[in-house]
Amino acid sequence: MPASHRNAHAIREAITRLNDPRLARWAAQIRHTGGCRQPIHLRGTVEHYDRATGRLLHRYSTNQEPDGVLRVPCKTRRASRCPACAETYRADTYHLIRAGLTGGKGVPESVSSHPCLFVTLTAPSFGPVHTRRERDGRILPCHPRRNRETCPHGRVISCTVRHRADDDVLGEPLCPGCYDYTGTVLFNAVAPVLWKRFADALRRHLAALAGLTLLQLREQLIVSFAKVGEFQRRGVVHFHAIIRLDGPAGPATTPPAWATCDVLTRAVQRAAQAVTVTIPQLAGELARVLRWGTQVDARPITLTGELTDQAVAGYIAKYATKAAECAGTLDQRISPTQDLSCLPVRDHARRLIAECLRLGAYEELAELRLVQWAHMLGFRGHLSTRSRHYSTTLTQIRAERQDHVRAEEITTGRLPLFDEDDVLVIARWEYAGRGLSSGDALVAALVGSSLPVPAPLGGEAR
Ligand SMILES: [Zn+2]
Ligand SMILES: [Zn+2]
Ligand SMILES: [Zn+2]
Repeated sequence: MPASHRNAHAIREAITRLNDPRLARWAAQIRHTGGCRQPIHLRGTVEHYDRATGRLLHRYSTNQEPDGVLRVPCKTRRASRCPACAETYRADTYHLIRAGLTGGKGVPESVSSHPCLFVTLTAPSFGPVHTRRERDGRILPCHPRRNRETCPHGRVISCTVRHRADDDVLGEPLCPGCYDYTGTVLFNAVAPVLWKRFADALRRHLAALAGLTLLQLREQLIVSFAKVGEFQRRGVVHFHAIIRLDGPAGPATTPPAWATCDVLTRAVQRAAQAVTVTIPQLAGELARVLRWGTQVDARPITLTGELTDQAVAGYIAKYATKAAECAGTLDQRISPTQDLSCLPVRDHARRLIAECLRLGAYEELAELRLVQWAHMLGFRGHLSTRSRHYSTTLTQIRAERQDHVRAEEITTGRLPLFDEDDVLVIARWEYAGRGLSSGDALVAALVGSSLPVPAPLGGEAR
């Protein structure tokens, strides 16, 4: 047994023998944060008053807690920031997405018979990049060109390598001089608007296919969706979406018989081709109209077969916890005065970040807030969104999980058991820091929490 393990073992033994309630409470707090790497520390009180008499029934104060604070999980969805909380977010998202496909969590099971597609909307090409292409299980050469043309920078725009999946050059342009960094960054910046226009156009095209007005369409059906943005290696965002047709009042109602998967597919294809976003003309720049790439994939989701509800829910949930870091960039804001050469990113990402900062100086593009979103390569907004009627909500799913913690607090007497209608709860909380103190880390190691590193990880905790 290594010395550190022997020590931990000895301390665990000691705690068991001491049976110190404060240590036990500390351990419980750490357990409730579920292995969070950067728990938030709160200081405050919760008071329960009798609504009828105004009498104070129960008072909780963090003064009684270890270090005088309550530790709560950071609840980030970013795997790069906190693996444990991101995993919770991923699991919750999975259940929420799946409920929208097969029912459950308050969504009727009949929803599985509604027309439902898995749609991928990609960005257009902004210049050739190294890619790994597969056909029938064989890896194809990256970008073979017989005539071996050279670009204005003297580079041969051809690559015959069969790239490995972990090859660092994947997503890198064949010639950075030719690659359209401006287009990439602007596409990321307007992608949410392009999506919104697509969703509106989809309703118009559905109405047109059925010979209805938009108003008449609304009386017969609504379009529900859940979408997730994914950064490709080349640093451009694309969207995967579940698009489902429901009756006029949401998943509990049946859409009309004419609204089939085929009709929905046609409407998706037409809407994707129809929408554009025009970028204001800039001095010394080309005028630009941005649209989706020509490749629009729309496939029915089925309970068995190639594209199942499980596969789709797993896919969407996985990408809901990732940001732009898959494209090799950062998950923190970049200041315009920062020395970009020091950033720990690939050159391709560095060029995209620099392009955000350059374009961000144009008055005409102010509303794209490119400087603020340079770390996301120009993309702002949410990577994971759902329409109101898609399924249950994350808040609902979290509340169910929170109920378990609440039940435990009631059994240990920490929380009083009152009829919620009869009591008035007044909570006062203040932020008291963030992170793991060395004591937290030690307790975490002792209770066998799955913390990645049993040592303080920066933060503002004491
Ligand atoms: Zn966390
Ligand atoms: Zn290549
Ligand atoms: Zn070139």
